[in-house]
Amino acid sequence: MRAGLGGNVVDRFKIVDVRAYLIGGRDVGGDYHKRATGHWITDTLISNPMSVYPDYRERRTSWGIGVLGSVLVEIEAADGTIGVATGMGGEPACYLIERHFRRFLVDSDPRDTARIWDQMFRASMFYGRKGLTMTAVSVVDLALWDLLGRLRGEPIYKMIGGAVRSSLPLYCTGPEPAVYQELGFFGGKIPLPEGPADGPAGLKRNIERVAAIREEVGPDYPLMIDCYMSLDVPYAIALAEAVRPLGVYWLEEVLHPDDQEGHRLIKNACPWMKWTTGEHEYTRYGFRNLITARSVDIVQPDVMWVGGLTELLRVAALANAYDIPVVPHGSGAYSYHFCMTQPQVIFGEYVNISPDGRSVAPVFGTMFKNEAIPVNGTITLSDEPGFGLELNRDAIALSRPYNGT
Ligand SMILES: [Mg+2]
Repeated sequence: MRAGLGGNVVDRFKIVDVRAYLIGGRDVGGDYHKRATGHWITDTLISNPMSVYPDYRERRTSWGIGVLGSVLVEIEAADGTIGVATGMGGEPACYLIERHFRRFLVDSDPRDTARIWDQMFRASMFYGRKGLTMTAVSVVDLALWDLLGRLRGEPIYKMIGGAVRSSLPLYCTGPEPAVYQELGFFGGKIPLPEGPADGPAGLKRNIERVAAIREEVGPDYPLMIDCYMSLDVPYAIALAEAVRPLGVYWLEEVLHPDDQEGHRLIKNACPWMKWTTGEHEYTRYGFRNLITARSVDIVQPDVMWVGGLTELLRVAALANAYDIPVVPHGSGAYSYHFCMTQPQVIFGEYVNISPDGRSVAPVFGTMFKNEAIPVNGTITLSDEPGFGLELNRDAIALSRPYNGT
Protein backbone atom coordinates (compact mmCIF):
# COMPACT_ATOMS: atom_id res chain seq x y z
CA MET A 1 0.00 0.00 0.00
CA ARG A 2 1.35 3.38 -0.97
CA ALA A 3 0.33 6.83 0.10
CA GLY A 4 1.55 10.31 -0.65
CA LEU A 5 1.08 13.08 -3.15
CA GLY A 6 2.64 13.67 -6.52
CA GLY A 7 6.12 12.26 -6.77
CA ASN A 8 6.54 11.87 -3.00
CA VAL A 9 5.35 8.31 -2.79
CA VAL A 10 5.99 6.86 0.63
CA ASP A 11 5.96 3.15 1.31
CA ARG A 12 4.17 3.18 4.66
CA PHE A 13 4.98 -0.46 5.30
CA LYS A 14 8.68 0.07 5.64
CA ILE A 15 10.61 0.42 8.88
CA VAL A 16 13.10 3.27 8.88
CA ASP A 17 14.29 3.37 12.49
CA VAL A 18 14.36 1.46 15.76
CA ARG A 19 15.13 3.22 19.04
CA ALA A 20 15.58 1.67 22.49
CA TYR A 21 15.39 3.98 25.50
CA LEU A 22 15.94 3.74 29.21
CA ILE A 23 13.18 5.25 31.30
CA GLY A 24 14.46 7.28 34.22
CA GLY A 25 13.05 7.10 37.73
CA ARG A 26 10.88 4.50 39.35
CA ASP A 27 7.22 3.48 39.28
CA VAL A 28 7.09 3.93 35.50
CA GLY A 29 7.36 1.51 32.58
CA GLY A 30 7.39 -2.23 32.10
CA ASP A 31 9.67 -3.40 34.93
CA TYR A 32 7.25 -4.39 37.72
CA HIS A 33 10.01 -4.19 40.30
CA LYS A 34 11.63 -0.81 39.68
CA ARG A 35 9.76 0.83 42.54
CA ALA A 36 10.19 3.62 45.03
CA THR A 37 11.30 2.50 48.49
CA GLY A 38 8.57 0.98 50.63
CA HIS A 39 6.45 -0.52 47.84
CA TRP A 40 4.69 -3.74 48.83
CA ILE A 41 5.98 -5.63 45.79
CA THR A 42 9.66 -5.11 46.60
CA ASP A 43 10.01 -4.14 50.25
CA THR A 44 7.76 -6.53 52.15
CA LEU A 45 8.50 -10.09 53.23
CA ILE A 46 7.97 -12.27 50.14
CA SER A 47 9.35 -15.77 49.81
CA ASN A 48 11.79 -15.89 46.88
CA PRO A 49 14.87 -17.82 45.69
CA MET A 50 17.18 -15.59 47.78
CA SER A 51 15.18 -16.08 50.99
CA VAL A 52 17.63 -18.79 52.06
CA TYR A 53 20.19 -16.04 52.76
CA PRO A 54 19.30 -14.10 55.93
CA ASP A 55 21.00 -10.95 54.59
CA TYR A 56 18.64 -10.90 51.60
CA ARG A 57 15.47 -12.28 53.16
CA GLU A 58 13.54 -9.17 54.17
CA ARG A 59 13.32 -7.17 50.95
CA ARG A 60 13.73 -8.27 47.36
CA THR A 61 15.39 -4.94 46.53
CA SER A 62 18.31 -6.04 48.75
CA TRP A 63 19.47 -8.63 46.21
CA GLY A 64 18.67 -6.56 43.15
CA ILE A 65 15.13 -7.20 41.94
CA GLY A 66 14.33 -4.27 39.69
CA VAL A 67 18.01 -3.76 38.89
CA LEU A 68 17.44 -4.04 35.14
CA GLY A 69 14.69 -1.45 34.90
CA SER A 70 12.26 -0.59 32.15
CA VAL A 71 12.84 -0.01 28.45
CA LEU A 72 10.84 1.79 25.82
CA VAL A 73 11.12 0.77 22.18
CA GLU A 74 10.00 2.89 19.27
CA ILE A 75 9.78 1.49 15.75
CA GLU A 76 9.21 4.12 13.09
CA ALA A 77 7.73 3.59 9.63
CA ALA A 78 8.56 5.62 6.51
CA ASP A 79 5.44 7.77 6.88
CA GLY A 80 6.41 8.78 10.43
CA THR A 81 4.04 6.41 12.21
CA ILE A 82 5.66 5.16 15.41
CA GLY A 83 4.90 1.95 17.26
CA VAL A 84 5.80 1.95 20.94
CA ALA A 85 6.09 -0.66 23.66
CA THR A 86 7.56 -0.95 27.11
CA GLY A 87 9.15 -3.92 28.80
CA MET A 88 11.93 -5.00 31.10
CA GLY A 89 15.66 -5.26 30.47
CA GLY A 90 17.19 -1.82 30.95
CA GLU A 91 20.53 -1.03 29.35
CA PRO A 92 21.43 -4.64 28.43
CA ALA A 93 18.16 -4.92 26.50
CA CYS A 94 18.85 -1.58 24.78
CA TYR A 95 22.21 -2.97 23.69
CA LEU A 96 20.71 -6.15 22.24
CA ILE A 97 17.99 -4.22 20.42
CA GLU A 98 20.18 -1.47 18.97
CA ARG A 99 23.36 -3.45 18.28
CA HIS A 100 21.94 -6.84 17.33
CA PHE A 101 18.21 -6.93 16.50
CA ARG A 102 18.03 -3.61 14.66
CA ARG A 103 19.47 -5.22 11.50
CA PHE A 104 16.41 -7.49 11.18
CA LEU A 105 14.00 -4.53 11.38
CA VAL A 106 15.31 -1.53 9.47
CA ASP A 107 14.18 -1.57 5.82
CA SER A 108 11.79 -4.45 6.63
CA ASP A 109 8.05 -4.59 6.11
CA PRO A 110 6.46 -4.43 9.60
CA ARG A 111 3.86 -6.94 8.47
CA ASP A 112 6.64 -9.57 8.46
CA THR A 113 6.23 -10.28 12.18
CA ALA A 114 6.95 -14.00 11.84
CA ARG A 115 10.21 -13.55 9.92
CA ILE A 116 11.46 -10.73 12.14
CA TRP A 117 10.68 -12.73 15.31
CA ASP A 118 12.34 -15.83 13.93
CA GLN A 119 15.50 -13.98 12.92
CA MET A 120 15.83 -12.31 16.35
CA PHE A 121 15.36 -15.71 18.03
CA ARG A 122 17.69 -17.72 15.80
CA ALA A 123 20.43 -15.09 15.71
CA SER A 124 20.49 -14.84 19.52
CA MET A 125 20.20 -18.59 20.13
CA PHE A 126 23.90 -18.96 20.96
CA TYR A 127 23.55 -16.68 23.97
CA GLY A 128 19.82 -16.37 24.48
CA ARG A 129 16.69 -18.56 24.26
CA LYS A 130 15.39 -17.36 27.64
CA GLY A 131 15.56 -14.57 30.22
CA LEU A 132 16.92 -11.18 29.30
CA THR A 133 17.27 -11.98 25.60
CA MET A 134 13.62 -12.92 25.36
CA THR A 135 12.50 -9.82 27.25
CA ALA A 136 14.35 -7.80 24.59
CA VAL A 137 12.75 -9.82 21.78
CA SER A 138 9.38 -9.37 23.51
CA VAL A 139 9.45 -5.59 23.70
CA VAL A 140 10.52 -5.33 20.05
CA ASP A 141 7.73 -7.70 19.03
CA LEU A 142 5.15 -5.69 21.01
CA ALA A 143 6.35 -2.41 19.47
CA LEU A 144 6.12 -4.02 16.03
CA TRP A 145 2.53 -5.11 16.63
CA ASP A 146 1.72 -1.64 17.96
CA LEU A 147 3.18 -0.09 14.79
CA LEU A 148 1.20 -2.46 12.62
CA GLY A 149 -2.00 -1.57 14.45
CA ARG A 150 -1.36 2.13 13.99
CA LEU A 151 -0.55 1.72 10.30
CA ARG A 152 -3.77 -0.23 9.80
CA GLY A 153 -5.85 1.91 12.15
CA GLU A 154 -6.92 -1.18 14.09
CA PRO A 155 -6.67 -2.31 17.70
CA ILE A 156 -4.45 -5.35 18.25
CA TYR A 157 -7.31 -7.60 19.34
CA LYS A 158 -9.01 -7.01 15.98
CA MET A 159 -5.85 -8.18 14.18
CA ILE A 160 -5.46 -11.47 16.06
CA GLY A 161 -8.94 -12.89 15.78
CA GLY A 162 -11.25 -10.29 17.24
CA ALA A 163 -12.91 -10.17 20.64
CA VAL A 164 -14.80 -13.19 21.94
CA ARG A 165 -16.14 -11.11 24.84
CA SER A 166 -16.88 -7.45 25.45
CA SER A 167 -15.06 -7.22 28.76
CA LEU A 168 -12.61 -9.27 30.78
CA PRO A 169 -12.96 -10.11 34.48
CA LEU A 170 -9.75 -9.81 36.46
CA TYR A 171 -8.29 -11.07 39.69
CA CYS A 172 -6.03 -8.73 41.61
CA THR A 173 -2.54 -9.52 42.90
CA GLY A 174 -1.38 -7.77 46.05
CA PRO A 175 -1.37 -7.87 49.82
CA GLU A 176 -5.01 -6.88 50.44
CA PRO A 177 -7.57 -9.37 49.05
CA ALA A 178 -10.37 -7.93 51.20
CA VAL A 179 -9.85 -4.59 49.43
CA TYR A 180 -9.89 -6.31 46.03
CA GLN A 181 -13.14 -7.98 46.92
CA GLU A 182 -14.65 -4.57 47.66
CA LEU A 183 -13.23 -3.14 44.45
CA GLY A 184 -15.04 -5.81 42.44
CA PHE A 185 -12.19 -8.13 41.45
CA PHE A 186 -13.39 -11.72 41.30
CA GLY A 187 -10.40 -13.05 43.26
CA GLY A 188 -7.22 -12.04 45.05
CA LYS A 189 -3.68 -13.40 44.98
CA ILE A 190 -1.16 -12.84 47.75
CA PRO A 191 2.58 -13.47 47.85
CA LEU A 192 3.70 -16.20 50.24
CA PRO A 193 5.76 -14.52 52.98
CA GLU A 194 8.01 -17.34 54.15
CA GLY A 195 9.73 -20.32 52.58
CA PRO A 196 11.53 -23.60 53.34
CA ALA A 197 14.46 -21.87 55.10
CA ASP A 198 12.02 -20.53 57.70
CA GLY A 199 11.20 -24.07 58.80
CA PRO A 200 8.00 -25.39 60.40
CA ALA A 201 7.46 -22.13 62.31
CA GLY A 202 7.51 -20.21 59.02
CA LEU A 203 5.04 -22.64 57.48
CA LYS A 204 2.78 -22.11 60.49
CA ARG A 205 2.98 -18.33 60.08
CA ASN A 206 2.19 -18.70 56.37
CA ILE A 207 -0.93 -20.69 57.19
CA GLU A 208 -2.00 -18.18 59.84
CA ARG A 209 -1.70 -15.39 57.26
CA VAL A 210 -3.82 -17.25 54.71
CA ALA A 211 -6.36 -18.17 57.41
CA ALA A 212 -6.64 -14.51 58.49
CA ILE A 213 -7.33 -13.42 54.92
CA ARG A 214 -9.85 -16.21 54.43
CA GLU A 215 -11.61 -14.97 57.55
CA GLU A 216 -11.75 -11.44 56.07
CA VAL A 217 -13.07 -12.37 52.62
CA GLY A 218 -15.43 -15.15 53.63
CA PRO A 219 -15.57 -18.78 52.50
CA ASP A 220 -16.30 -18.37 48.79
CA TYR A 221 -13.95 -15.64 47.52
CA PRO A 222 -11.21 -17.13 45.29
CA LEU A 223 -7.79 -16.79 46.93
CA MET A 224 -4.54 -17.66 45.21
CA ILE A 225 -0.99 -17.86 46.59
CA ASP A 226 2.12 -16.91 44.61
CA CYS A 227 5.34 -18.62 45.67
CA TYR A 228 7.80 -16.97 43.22
CA MET A 229 10.04 -20.01 42.50
CA SER A 230 10.92 -20.32 46.19
CA LEU A 231 9.75 -23.75 47.37
CA ASP A 232 10.74 -27.36 46.81
CA VAL A 233 8.61 -30.46 46.26
CA PRO A 234 8.19 -31.48 49.94
CA TYR A 235 7.38 -27.92 51.07
CA ALA A 236 4.93 -27.42 48.19
CA ILE A 237 3.08 -30.60 49.19
CA ALA A 238 3.09 -29.61 52.88
CA LEU A 239 1.74 -26.15 51.98
CA ALA A 240 -0.96 -27.58 49.74
CA GLU A 241 -2.09 -29.99 52.47
CA ALA A 242 -2.09 -27.23 55.09
CA VAL A 243 -4.14 -24.73 53.06
CA ARG A 244 -6.58 -27.35 51.76
CA PRO A 245 -9.15 -26.62 54.51
CA LEU A 246 -8.87 -22.90 53.68
CA GLY A 247 -9.99 -23.32 50.09
CA VAL A 248 -7.10 -21.95 48.05
CA TYR A 249 -7.93 -21.58 44.36
CA TRP A 250 -4.37 -22.16 43.14
CA LEU A 251 -0.74 -22.37 44.20
CA GLU A 252 1.51 -20.49 41.79
CA GLU A 253 5.13 -20.99 40.73
CA VAL A 254 6.08 -23.12 43.70
CA LEU A 255 9.20 -24.67 42.10
CA HIS A 256 12.34 -23.65 40.24
CA PRO A 257 11.18 -23.05 36.64
CA ASP A 258 13.42 -25.87 35.37
CA ASP A 259 11.98 -28.46 37.76
CA GLN A 260 9.25 -29.58 35.40
CA GLU A 261 9.60 -33.15 36.75
CA GLY A 262 8.83 -31.73 40.19
CA HIS A 263 5.47 -30.51 38.87
CA ARG A 264 4.56 -34.08 37.99
CA LEU A 265 5.37 -35.15 41.56
CA ILE A 266 3.31 -32.43 43.26
CA LYS A 267 0.37 -32.95 40.89
CA ASN A 268 0.43 -36.69 41.63
CA ALA A 269 0.66 -36.03 45.37
CA CYS A 270 -2.09 -33.35 45.42
CA PRO A 271 -4.30 -33.76 42.34
CA TRP A 272 -7.06 -31.73 44.04
CA MET A 273 -4.91 -28.57 44.02
CA LYS A 274 -4.61 -26.32 40.97
CA TRP A 275 -0.88 -25.84 40.29
CA THR A 276 0.07 -22.94 38.05
CA THR A 277 3.34 -21.64 36.67
CA GLY A 278 5.03 -20.15 33.62
CA GLU A 279 5.82 -16.46 34.15
CA HIS A 280 9.55 -17.32 34.12
CA GLU A 281 9.30 -19.69 31.18
CA TYR A 282 10.11 -18.64 27.64
CA THR A 283 8.94 -19.46 24.11
CA ARG A 284 6.94 -22.42 22.88
CA TYR A 285 9.98 -24.61 23.45
CA GLY A 286 10.05 -23.75 27.14
CA PHE A 287 6.34 -24.45 27.49
CA ARG A 288 6.35 -27.64 25.42
CA ASN A 289 7.10 -30.16 28.19
CA LEU A 290 5.15 -28.17 30.77
CA ILE A 291 2.02 -28.46 28.65
CA THR A 292 2.39 -31.95 27.19
CA ALA A 293 3.15 -33.47 30.61
CA ARG A 294 -0.27 -32.21 31.77
CA SER A 295 1.08 -31.64 35.28
CA VAL A 296 0.25 -27.92 35.40
CA ASP A 297 -3.37 -26.81 35.59
CA ILE A 298 -2.94 -23.27 34.24
CA VAL A 299 0.01 -21.76 32.36
CA GLN A 300 0.92 -18.12 32.96
CA PRO A 301 3.23 -16.74 30.27
CA ASP A 302 4.14 -13.07 30.57
CA VAL A 303 3.80 -11.43 27.16
CA MET A 304 6.55 -8.91 28.01
CA TRP A 305 8.97 -11.80 28.73
CA VAL A 306 7.88 -14.95 26.84
CA GLY A 307 8.71 -13.60 23.38
CA GLY A 308 5.99 -11.02 22.82
CA LEU A 309 2.55 -11.40 21.30
CA THR A 310 3.85 -13.45 18.36
CA GLU A 311 5.14 -16.17 20.67
CA LEU A 312 2.32 -15.94 23.22
CA LEU A 313 -0.14 -16.88 20.48
CA ARG A 314 1.91 -20.02 19.74
CA VAL A 315 2.13 -21.00 23.41
CA ALA A 316 -1.62 -20.46 23.71
CA ALA A 317 -2.35 -22.67 20.69
CA LEU A 318 -0.27 -25.47 22.20
CA ALA A 319 -1.93 -25.13 25.61
CA ASN A 320 -5.35 -24.97 23.97
CA ALA A 321 -4.74 -28.31 22.25
CA TYR A 322 -4.31 -29.83 25.72
CA ASP A 323 -7.26 -27.96 27.26
CA ILE A 324 -4.90 -26.20 29.66
CA PRO A 325 -6.10 -22.65 30.34
CA VAL A 326 -3.75 -19.71 29.75
CA VAL A 327 -3.95 -16.87 32.26
CA PRO A 328 -1.20 -14.44 31.30
CA HIS A 329 0.98 -12.94 34.00
CA GLY A 330 0.46 -9.18 34.47
CA SER A 331 1.45 -6.97 31.51
CA GLY A 332 -1.65 -4.78 31.48
CA ALA A 333 -2.94 -3.86 28.02
CA TYR A 334 -0.46 -6.20 26.31
CA SER A 335 -2.16 -9.14 28.00
CA TYR A 336 -5.70 -7.80 27.83
CA HIS A 337 -5.68 -7.56 24.02
CA PHE A 338 -4.62 -11.21 23.86
CA CYS A 339 -7.15 -12.36 26.48
CA MET A 340 -10.04 -10.73 24.62
CA THR A 341 -9.42 -12.99 21.62
CA GLN A 342 -9.09 -16.33 23.41
CA PRO A 343 -12.20 -18.43 24.07
CA GLN A 344 -10.35 -20.50 26.71
CA VAL A 345 -8.98 -17.48 28.61
CA ILE A 346 -11.85 -16.64 30.90
CA PHE A 347 -10.13 -14.06 33.09
CA GLY A 348 -6.90 -12.06 33.42
CA GLU A 349 -4.60 -10.69 36.08
CA TYR A 350 -4.24 -7.16 37.36
CA VAL A 351 -1.09 -6.68 39.43
CA ASN A 352 -1.93 -4.00 41.97
CA ILE A 353 0.83 -1.54 41.47
CA SER A 354 -0.13 1.09 44.02
CA PRO A 355 2.54 1.38 46.75
CA ASP A 356 0.36 0.01 49.54
CA GLY A 357 -1.56 -2.29 47.23
CA ARG A 358 -4.90 -0.77 48.14
CA SER A 359 -5.94 1.30 45.10
CA VAL A 360 -6.24 0.76 41.36
CA ALA A 361 -3.48 2.49 39.41
CA PRO A 362 -2.17 2.29 35.82
CA VAL A 363 0.17 -0.70 35.42
CA PHE A 364 2.81 1.42 33.64
CA GLY A 365 2.55 4.47 35.91
CA THR A 366 2.58 7.84 34.18
CA MET A 367 4.07 6.46 30.99
CA PHE A 368 0.91 6.57 28.90
CA LYS A 369 -1.76 9.26 28.74
CA ASN A 370 -4.67 6.88 28.38
CA GLU A 371 -3.91 3.50 29.95
CA ALA A 372 -7.18 1.73 30.69
CA ILE A 373 -7.52 0.61 34.30
CA PRO A 374 -9.96 -1.94 35.70
CA VAL A 375 -13.39 -0.67 36.71
CA ASN A 376 -15.31 -2.86 39.14
CA GLY A 377 -12.70 -5.58 38.60
CA THR A 378 -13.25 -5.66 34.85
CA ILE A 379 -11.34 -4.29 31.88
CA THR A 380 -12.79 -3.11 28.60
CA LEU A 381 -10.73 -2.07 25.59
CA SER A 382 -11.12 0.90 23.32
CA ASP A 383 -10.92 0.83 19.54
CA GLU A 384 -7.77 2.95 19.56
CA PRO A 385 -5.19 1.54 17.13
CA GLY A 386 -2.39 -0.73 18.28
CA PHE A 387 -2.41 -1.41 22.01
CA GLY A 388 -4.25 1.87 22.48
CA LEU A 389 -1.47 3.43 24.55
CA GLU A 390 -0.45 7.01 23.86
CA LEU A 391 3.03 7.83 25.11
CA ASN A 392 3.17 10.62 27.70
CA ARG A 393 6.58 11.93 26.65
CA ASP A 394 6.49 14.98 28.90
CA ALA A 395 5.99 12.82 31.99
CA ILE A 396 8.94 10.49 31.51
CA ALA A 397 12.70 10.95 31.25
CA LEU A 398 14.09 9.01 28.30
CA SER A 399 17.71 8.38 27.45
CA ARG A 400 19.14 6.34 24.59
CA PRO A 401 22.35 4.58 25.64
CA TYR A 402 23.11 3.04 22.23
CA ASN A 403 22.43 4.60 18.89
CA GLY A 404 21.92 2.07 16.12
CA THR A 405 25.16 0.75 14.75
MG1 LIG B 1 3.68 -15.01 40.06
